[in-house]
Amino acid sequence: MKFTRLFSRANIETMTKEIAVSGIRPTGKQHIGNYFGATRNFVQMQDMFNGYFFVADYHSLTTHPDAKDLREKSKNIALIYLACGLDPNKCALYLQSDVPQIPELYLIFNMMAYLGELEREATFKEKVREQPNNVNAGLLTYPVLMTVDIIIQKAKKVPVGKDQQQHVEMSRDFVRRFNNLYGVDYFPEPEAFSFSQALVNVPSLDGEGKMSKSKPEHTCIYLEDEADVMRKKMMRMVTDSGPKEPNAAKPLIIQNVFDLMELVSPAETVQYYNEKWNDCSIRYGDMKKQLAEDMVTFLAPIREKIKELSANEKILLEILGDGGAKARANSAQTLKDVREIVGLQKV
Ligand code: AMP
Repeated sequence: MKFTRLFSRANIETMTKEIAVSGIRPTGKQHIGNYFGATRNFVQMQDMFNGYFFVADYHSLTTHPDAKDLREKSKNIALIYLACGLDPNKCALYLQSDVPQIPELYLIFNMMAYLGELEREATFKEKVREQPNNVNAGLLTYPVLMTVDIIIQKAKKVPVGKDQQQHVEMSRDFVRRFNNLYGVDYFPEPEAFSFSQALVNVPSLDGEGKMSKSKPEHTCIYLEDEADVMRKKMMRMVTDSGPKEPNAAKPLIIQNVFDLMELVSPAETVQYYNEKWNDCSIRYGDMKKQLAEDMVTFLAPIREKIKELSANEKILLEILGDGGAKARANSAQTLKDVREIVGLQKV
């Protein structure tokens, strides 16, 4: 597969479309939660919106990653974006750290965020529990940096999974506060976005909460997992002893299996197993086998593309370079306006 370089043609259309921004942290391996919660939406949005999709490398510094590892993982996210179908001729693909205007606006927006609300934020509280020896200021102000990622491009739509909903709500608060404080109507209030009816929440395979990079490997399906690894993980999914009466409500661990099936299986397959559940004849082994096969089939083209593109590092870096230039140009205008609005002296 070949990529032509970005912006080889002027793209007047992108100037008039609504702006969408989102990113993924280059930590751990990309799992199907990242795909269905985020990347799939980015791909669906790229025609309709002026998309800015980035690798959130500053965000990942909160966990103090090894430098070489961070660089590799950052390239890997960009590669996965391309493998999933993002087209650098339609949207900007860039590294967050390639946009120096972001840290400056982050500093200004830290003045809009109060300690109490940051401390009450659910992800922060979870991280405090998970990593009590590394509760750094970056972790606390993560929602401010995320706000800036969005608003520096003046974006309205933020394609994210359900787990990020609270952060986007906070972004709306910070933006409203800024606009009110300075008596301007400068930043649009961003909103979380998904093409599905609700924001997506991909469950962990052990039935405990969401699929997450910080959870054990056997609880996640990674985009790069080989078919047999996927099959093994799916067959280990936790189930129960089966429905006790017809048309019973499904317990969460069973609903999780159905939720995953809805993501990758044809509608008739989901309907078939729903009927089996309702008449109490369901065999979880069969269902998980079917789900595993559908998952393998669904992800095969992405896995193939990842392998194919891995050999193309030079063009990958060029794409990121071009995307960075576009993101910087847009950000520079926003920052110039904000410096003016807040009264920083021009010299
Ligand atoms: P992160 O890996 O935390 O940087 O998340 C990147 C994107 O993936 C965000 O938009 C998240 O909302 C989304 N995401 C991560 N895990 C899940 C999940 N289990 N279900 C749905 N979306 C998810």
